[in-house]
This record gives sequence, structure tokens and C-alpha cells, in this order.
Amino acid sequence: MRQNGPATKGPPASEAGGVLTIDLAALVANWRALAERAAPAECAAVVKADAYGCGIEPVVGALYRSGCRTFFVAHISEARRVRACAPDAVVYVLAGLHPGGGPDYATDNLRPILSGIEEVREWAAFRASGWQGGAGLHVDTGMNRLGLSLDDAAALATDAVLPKAGLSLLISHLAVADDPGHPLNARQAGLFREMRDLFPGVAGSLANSSGIFLGPDVHHDMVRPGAALYGVNPTPTHANPMQPVVRVEGRILQVREIETGDTVGYGAVWTARRPSRLAIVSLGYGDGVPRSAGASDLNTGADILVAGRRCPIAGRVSMDLIAADVTDLPDGVPRRGDWATLLGDTIDVDELAAHAGTIGYEVLTRLGHRHRRVYVGA
Ligand SMILES: *Cc1c(COP(=O)(O)O)cnc(C)c1O
Repeated sequence: MRQNGPATKGPPASEAGGVLTIDLAALVANWRALAERAAPAECAAVVKADAYGCGIEPVVGALYRSGCRTFFVAHISEARRVRACAPDAVVYVLAGLHPGGGPDYATDNLRPILSGIEEVREWAAFRASGWQGGAGLHVDTGMNRLGLSLDDAAALATDAVLPKAGLSLLISHLAVADDPGHPLNARQAGLFREMRDLFPGVAGSLANSSGIFLGPDVHHDMVRPGAALYGVNPTPTHANPMQPVVRVEGRILQVREIETGDTVGYGAVWTARRPSRLAIVSLGYGDGVPRSAGASDLNTGADILVAGRRCPIAGRVSMDLIAADVTDLPDGVPRRGDWATLLGDTIDVDELAAHAGTIGYEVLTRLGHRHRRVYVGA
């Protein structure tokens, strides 16, 4: 474990306001479960955005030791960090080739995912200078973000540049895989098959986390899960088949009593309807807690677990603090110095995200680096 970085980061336990615990055993179990579901397709891992906030080095280290050999990131800087802990893995960079960027790929033996004919020509020209490395090709099947259209793909398929580009993988990305009944899934799956026929002998990859659950028709040669590895539910209409990976706890700095009619926090938007007791928790939007998870007189916010019981947030989430309404807990509970759980046990990342009007992906990638970070299960 040591060679992949310390098992803790950030302030020492005695000083920390918030503690982020990342369970690498759960992460590995999630990868194995997805790999089993996708077999015989290869199961890669998407580790962009600092492995969805969980930390590239510990995440890649744990997955590599478990047998994962292909990683996807968004940027070259992320790919270099993957390379440092996975020496012989294949690392694809979704942002592709910036103009003049070929040498960056050669230095650390990385593979760009090319999204247009101009990019393919530039890559082929760079390879003509002596680099043998492969590249992915992104084709668009309905997301209308990155990738070649069907017409461009057909033109490229007969272009003399194609054999010089060293294509090792054809990818496309699903727009609504988390909504299995949506007709766009079948359209994208059909178009991807057509696109694959244009590039015989090149491996194909279509499915993200949710795509894996659409069934073997979309698995092709490789699947590319991200969110599900980190515990986000890839099947939102069903119970979450993944294990939770991330836990967020905040220290209770003070417990206080307020009167009926008193308001709590900025904007005075939450009013006590009875004599109430508040626990003031050392977590806020500066720690990545969505500000939209707060509560007002009109809207309930997220819950937070105090002494194992769900307590509603009272008032706005501020930069460093959240107030929890602990009126219904037994006298003397909680005490200053106890810990409250914002994410973990019965509260999963999808629940917190739903209260905040966002998705688990955004909650995870915003967690940030102010917490004490603890990696367990390595
Ligand atoms: C982010 C991303 C993934 C992973 O998606 P999840 O929904 O997190 O599994 C896969 N492929 C591409 C192209 C991506 O951008």
C-alpha cells in the first residue's frame, strides 16, 4: 500500500472538522461485480476527476492490484498520475489530442481518444515520426458531444490515413443508459454496430456503468464503468446493487437550545416551530456539501445521522457549518465532540444528491480536499 501513497491525507484526526473515509475493499468488490456481469468483455475503470473525488492513486492502485488493466481519464495530467501507479496498464485520455500534443502521449505511453478526422490526421502524422502507440476513436451515436458522425466515420474508413492511426479501440457513449426503456438506447446500440462494421478488427466499447445493466448486447469487447465503482446506483429504478464506498462525517462543535420562533443560519429561512436543540456540525459547502441540501420553512433538506438517528438539517448549509435539528434525540445526546454522518450507513450518495437536486456524480466529484481522508480496506 505504501508505494501508492499514504493511507491518510489532510489534517490529523485531532484537528479535522470533517472525515472522508474511502473503502477500497468496497471499490474492488464493485469492480469485480461489474467485471463478472460484463464477462467475457473486459472491465476497464473510469478514473477521471480524481477518480470521482476518491483519489486517483489509491483507487488505481487498488484496482490494478485486483487485475484491472485499462483506465480512462479526461485529461493528460490525470493520465500521468494513473501511469505512475499502473506501469503496464493501457491508459486512454478522453479529451484526445490537443494541437501539437503528440509528444505528451509518447512520454508516458498514453493513448488519446480521437474525436474527429483532423485529429486522426494529426495523430497519424505524429506516429509517422516514430511513435508506435495506439489510439481510441470516439464515434457519436446520439449524445452529440464528442465523436465522429456516421458520415465522417464512413469517410475515414476508406481514407489512406486510417492504417497509420494505430486504432486500438472504437468507443461511443450512451446518453440515457440509466433509463432502460428510453428508445435512444436502442438507436445508439444499433448505430454503434453499424459504426463497428466500418472498422473491422478494432475492439469496441459502448457501455458506461448503467450501460452494463442494459445487457450483453451493449457490452462489446470492453465496458467503461465510472460512477458504479464508487457506489452510485447504476440502476436508479431498482435497489442499488453496488456497495457504498464513500463516507463523510463531521465533528459536532456545539449543541445549543433555541426558542420557538428563533431562526437558524444565513437568510433566517428556517424557523423553530417548537423549543429545539441543534447540533452544529463542522461540514459545509467548503467541504463539498451541496448548499442546495439545506432546509427552509418551505423546503425540507437532507438528513444527517446523529447518534445513529436521522436528523433533519435546519437552515442553510454555510461554508463550514451545518445545523442539525436533534430535538428528538434523548437528553444529553449528542455531546460536543461526537461525530455526525452526512454520507454513510443508511444515507447513500444518491439520497444526498436527490435532496440537493443533483446526481451522485456531482456530490462525489465536489468532496474536495479539506477533510481528513482515510483509506480503508486496502
Ligand atoms: C465518464 C464517462 C464514462 C463513465 O460513465 P459512468 O456513468 O460514470 O459509468 C464512460 N465513458 C465516457 C466517454 C465517459 O465520459
